Amino acid sequence: MTNDVSHTGPERAAEVLERTPTGLFIDGEFCDAADGSTFEVLNPATARVLATVADAGVADGRRALDAAVAAQEGFAATPALERHDMLMRAHQLLRERRESLAWLMSLEMGKPLAEAQGEIAYAGEFFRHFAGEALRIDGGYQPAPQGTGRLLVARQPVGPCLLITPWNFPMAMGTRKLGPALAAGCTSVLKPAQQTPLSMLALAQILSEAGVPPGVVNIVPTTDAGGVMEPLIRSGDARKLSFTGSTHVGKRLLEQCADKVLRTSMELGGNAPFIVFEDADLDEAVAGCMQAKMRNMGEACTAANRIYVHSSLIEQFGDRMAARMGELVVGDGTAEGTQVGPLIDEAALDKVEALVGDATDRGAQVLVGGQRTGGTGYFYPPTVLTGVSTDARAAHEEIFGPVAALTPFETEDEVVAAANDTRYGLVSYVFTNDLRRALRVAERLESGMVGLNQGVVSNPYAPFGGVKESGLGREGGSVGIDEFLESKYIGIALG
Ligand code: NAP
Repeated sequence: MTNDVSHTGPERAAEVLERTPTGLFIDGEFCDAADGSTFEVLNPATARVLATVADAGVADGRRALDAAVAAQEGFAATPALERHDMLMRAHQLLRERRESLAWLMSLEMGKPLAEAQGEIAYAGEFFRHFAGEALRIDGGYQPAPQGTGRLLVARQPVGPCLLITPWNFPMAMGTRKLGPALAAGCTSVLKPAQQTPLSMLALAQILSEAGVPPGVVNIVPTTDAGGVMEPLIRSGDARKLSFTGSTHVGKRLLEQCADKVLRTSMELGGNAPFIVFEDADLDEAVAGCMQAKMRNMGEACTAANRIYVHSSLIEQFGDRMAARMGELVVGDGTAEGTQVGPLIDEAALDKVEALVGDATDRGAQVLVGGQRTGGTGYFYPPTVLTGVSTDARAAHEEIFGPVAALTPFETEDEVVAAANDTRYGLVSYVFTNDLRRALRVAERLESGMVGLNQGVVSNPYAPFGGVKESGLGREGGSVGIDEFLESKYIGIALG
């Protein structure tokens, strides 16, 4: 890719697609699958084919891991300053190509261009952050407390990594893993989601231009995720798996990793409670809820899934949410003015429809939306439900769509218990103007992250991750690189 294009509409889409590689990226080259297989990538706004991409099979996966294994020793020995510089060059290229990469993402995933641009900026920040972390990899040297020797601690890359990413943030979920892997000196094989392989292939080109050596990053889109990845996991030739996706798949992968005792990082599903206390600033709470609910059309692990509003406020809160949601412009993400794009596919649409039907069957009222939009593309209208029962499926499963499910509560103890009544624990949101309550509740909530009077927590400079069945490990922040480093202790005899 060169500099950004400036056309509009279909012409621009065609130009962006034409410049995007569609081969597997193995050992520094874009290539066909060994058996020549390909698959089609669809535009969720039109259900039409966007691109045809090479479809990796078992042999291609193996070749990619062989390349990563072969490159590991040399890359681990690269001076940290060089790894820093590669990441900073890639960061700069992401900035320069932000417009066209946003187009590509909007085409394959559906999100509005403004959100896609935001994601490219967010994705690039992981490279800048981890470029700095590469320079801060430290160790230790201390007298043994027994006084008989010295304790030396070196921090070394874990080795070749397998990285698996989902479709909802096609660029940022990749850079959030590749940033720390590259900073630490690890090589990798990354498998993007089959709905959205193009963003990662565009990134492969950027990494190559940024000077990342052949074999260090390999990208293998495939329609056979299990068939390709399981033998690589079980081979033991990779030393780590970092996965972002559903809890269901994450558990299966943990079992596979047990075989060769691979290190794992698991960023899994969420079921975020969003709590509005009676002393909250209503305007701020509505604005925060719009962000926490509608970012990425609700297709985010951090999306507000259960919105608990104090009974004294719920009517006003519901009316304001309904007014804001009803005004949103739904359409093709690449069209000017679109605020809400399509869902990813037919199955996602069916699930959202089923959850809304289940909630209304159990007594919820629809304040706005609630009926699937006809026509092509996978569109669902912004919807507000109130009086959602705590038994409803929407209270226990990720909605993953533009549906705000409101439930009233009376007391702090009651709402904390309800919020924690889930197997998930990724993020919670709390809106209150009472500082003591804010901190008390934040400490009692069983989640890896809490948004206090704010509807977005994602930040490359903070540790992102969950507890309970939302995952293991943290991405981002100063601890993010630890997931890709081992501490090696060397005992030294003196005298
Ligand atoms: P998914 O079905 O679990 O898929 C995620 C990735 O795993 C995709 O690349 C998928 O490939 C791959 N995969 C599926 N089955 C596999 C197998 N047997 N072996 C190896 N890889 C396999 O999840 P999704 O529907 O794409 O993504 C949405 C989920 O991700 C939600 O639960 C969301 O909460 C979670 N998420 C979590 C975070 C976080 O940071 N905690 C961030 C974003 C999303 P295919 O595309 O080929 O199926």
